[in-house]
Amino acid sequence: MNYDYLIVGAGLAGSVLAERIANQLNKKVLVIDKREHFGGNCYDYKDVNGILIHKYGPHIFHTSNHKVWEYLSQFTDWELYFHKVLAAVEGLKIPVPFNLNSLYMVFPNHYASKLEEILINTYGFGTKIPILKLKDSQNSELSYLADYIYKNIFLGYTLKQWEFKPEELDHSVTSRIPVNISRDDRYFQDIYQGLPKEGYSSIFEKLLNHPNIELRLNTEFKSDINNIKFNKLIFTGPIDSFFDYVHGQLPYRSLRFELESFNLESFQEVSQVNYPNNYDFTRITEFKHFYRNQIKDISKTVIAKEFSLAHIPGQNDPYYPIPKPENEIIFKQYLNEIDKLNGSVIFAGRLADYKYYNMDQVIGVALQIFDKKIATTI
Ligand code: FAD
Ligand code: UDP
Repeated sequence: MNYDYLIVGAGLAGSVLAERIANQLNKKVLVIDKREHFGGNCYDYKDVNGILIHKYGPHIFHTSNHKVWEYLSQFTDWELYFHKVLAAVEGLKIPVPFNLNSLYMVFPNHYASKLEEILINTYGFGTKIPILKLKDSQNSELSYLADYIYKNIFLGYTLKQWEFKPEELDHSVTSRIPVNISRDDRYFQDIYQGLPKEGYSSIFEKLLNHPNIELRLNTEFKSDINNIKFNKLIFTGPIDSFFDYVHGQLPYRSLRFELESFNLESFQEVSQVNYPNNYDFTRITEFKHFYRNQIKDISKTVIAKEFSLAHIPGQNDPYYPIPKPENEIIFKQYLNEIDKLNGSVIFAGRLADYKYYNMDQVIGVALQIFDKKIATTI
């Protein structure tokens, strides 16, 4: 069989592109993935108790991109869900992103009220201030508050997650979780938020369920595709691996998850508790909280402790690009390699673009690539 497209990676980028090409262009697509399952890092499965486990850490869908929400909603109904996260700080569990509710939990009322007034007068109610911006404040009270939040929420967590301090990374990393000058305890404020009713894997089943799409798992690009004939290649794995590391390795962070189950109705108050200052793990996810019906039904629960570590090719999987100027320089060298291919290979996704994308961004980019680079060349 001669395929029109070979797509490396059955994650979100690869699966969305496969669906578009098969459905809209009626072309034959072979999707390969070296893992034993599709779905990339969004993969989930039901355990023996029927609890839906996110194998690669907590995945909450959130977007303000209407086009992306509409696209994905063709493949799933939604469980309405607002993600609320607590951080263990000084023996308390306080809402993160740090907001006015957190403020009143960690300081005496009169002092919290004074800080609230200064925050609102300085920035306005309802605004969001990245911690590294708050730290620049010339106001001594705000500077004290910024130091408190920096030390208790960001420093330890960021060192564990990245092995760098917040200021050593691109500021966009800690800006993902800005201080919210509001009473909104939700982790995200996007217009559309939720969890797929039947889980993420069910979305992938639907994306890939097309007579024009063939899926081969446990199949590694380069070593396992010798006899496969195809016209065009789409690559969604790590960009440095595609070019055999000619410009050196691009650093990625990897993760290790420790799963534990308990004969308890529930282990913690919410689905995610962050541990900035204690223990070696960054956060604990309790999966039961994601779906309302799972809380009442079963007297068992499962948690995952998440540990961050350096990615070593061949030994563990890459999960996070590391946004730092020196890594951007290496990435640009790989972009030059891409240019030399004159468009014969299409690169897409979080590992190939070396960008700290959320799921909605990956879908957005894949849809754009389809419209601009694939549909137009037919
Ligand atoms: P991937 O999912 O990494 O898929 C790439 C696939 O390519 C993999 O399956 C891999 O096995 C395969 N592959 C790579 N190289 C080869 C090769 N040589 N041969 C064959 N196959 C290969 N986003 C959100 O929006 N909300 C969240 O709450 C959220 N939480 C997250 C939590 C964690 C812990 C992590 C790590 C990510 C989270 N994300 C979240 C981000 C989300 O996982 C990604 O944006 C998305 O999964 C990226 O999709 P992708 O297809 O680009 O990459
Ligand atoms: N962060 C932190 N403390 C927290 C939550 C987040 O320091 O309690 C910082 C940390 O650097 C983290 C980044 O903000 O890597 C982004 O957090 P997010 O929750 O978006 O990480 P992800 O879910 O992508 O792992």
